Amino acid sequence: MQFADIAAHELSSPIEPPQEREFYGGTRRLLKRDVVLVAVETADGEVGYAPGGASSSAMREYFSDATHSGFVDLLEEEIAPAFAGRDLDDAADVHAIVAELDLPDLLESQAASVLDVAYHDIFGKHHGAPIYELLGDGADVARRLPLYASAGMYMPPEGYAEQAAAIRERGFAGYKYRPGLGPEEDLRTIELVREAVGEEMAVMVDAHTWWKLGERSYGFDRVCDLVEAFAEFDPYWVEEPVSPADYDAYADLSSRTSVPLAGGESEESPEGLIELAETGGVDYLQGDVRHHAGYTGCWRAVEHCRGRDVTFVPHNFGTHLGLVANAHLAAAAPGTELLEYPVFGTDSAAMYPFPLAADILTTELDISDGHLTLPDGPGLGVDVNLDAIGEYPYVEGPWTEFVYEES
Ligand SMILES: [Mg+2]
Repeated sequence: MQFADIAAHELSSPIEPPQEREFYGGTRRLLKRDVVLVAVETADGEVGYAPGGASSSAMREYFSDATHSGFVDLLEEEIAPAFAGRDLDDAADVHAIVAELDLPDLLESQAASVLDVAYHDIFGKHHGAPIYELLGDGADVARRLPLYASAGMYMPPEGYAEQAAAIRERGFAGYKYRPGLGPEEDLRTIELVREAVGEEMAVMVDAHTWWKLGERSYGFDRVCDLVEAFAEFDPYWVEEPVSPADYDAYADLSSRTSVPLAGGESEESPEGLIELAETGGVDYLQGDVRHHAGYTGCWRAVEHCRGRDVTFVPHNFGTHLGLVANAHLAAAAPGTELLEYPVFGTDSAAMYPFPLAADILTTELDISDGHLTLPDGPGLGVDVNLDAIGEYPYVEGPWTEFVYEES
């Protein structure tokens, strides 16, 4: 196989009107969501797609404007020429060619991710096999995956509880929310959420918000006390409770609490995922095919979890193209039983409106009763809506802003 052309499209889905969410010591503005759609065409005319977009930290490290435009230019102007005329025998060749460019690690895994996913889409289409089948290597794969709903962010405690109840009504296996209202209100929130959903439903707390509170970020001791206080309300996990690079803090916290911890989405590479798992500080490891070197990279983390006391549960946030890409991994990965499903829209179950999330596909995904049934077509098994490129033009500027109160 040869990659004859790599095209990257930068799209924006405005949040209209912009939203303002209060947190402990500030306000977060939500303006839009940006998406990069990557299309790779082979010399034989087969086209594979991938959900793209470097993580925000990768962009800060590499591009002065810290927007997706830099990532799009990198793909089209540096990476596409590096692939021109090169024969690809397998996915490892994709990674070897990206590695030759000597990009910073973080950006290398972002770039390798989109090319690896597109490679698998093309390979599956060429062989008439869905990606989950290629990854599962003959094992029985259940196409119907339970989803946990990912929504709440900086709301009053009662707002989270109301949202949790709406999500329960829709049949989801779990509810994940992002607190950040100060320790007392965060504790009151989990109490109200547990009350709203009953004893059975999984409640996940995504606590990356705690170390993003600027000057009011919770220190380690406060985090320990708070996580331990959450135990009474039986959280399924607490995610990224400490700064992601602080492996010692992960290990220390996990030795002090019975509450399961999750992390991994902020790791720079598959190696980082494995290192985090090796600290023993996480019970759930959250790799993402969009950020951790695609299927090839994430599969290494999946293999690492096998037979160990850590469960791989994909991180997933963005469009339905990203959802379906991670769903193939989740379906094929032994021991993985849950997938993150961000809920977008305007009703009480939703985080915020993001119409492009579904509009990026012409295929309507089969999502019902809290489950996604993966399409069984070849490759990713979905059709991309190329009209979205014209319908969601890129909007300049950051997608979100944190405004911290003066102290
Ligand atoms: Mg998270």
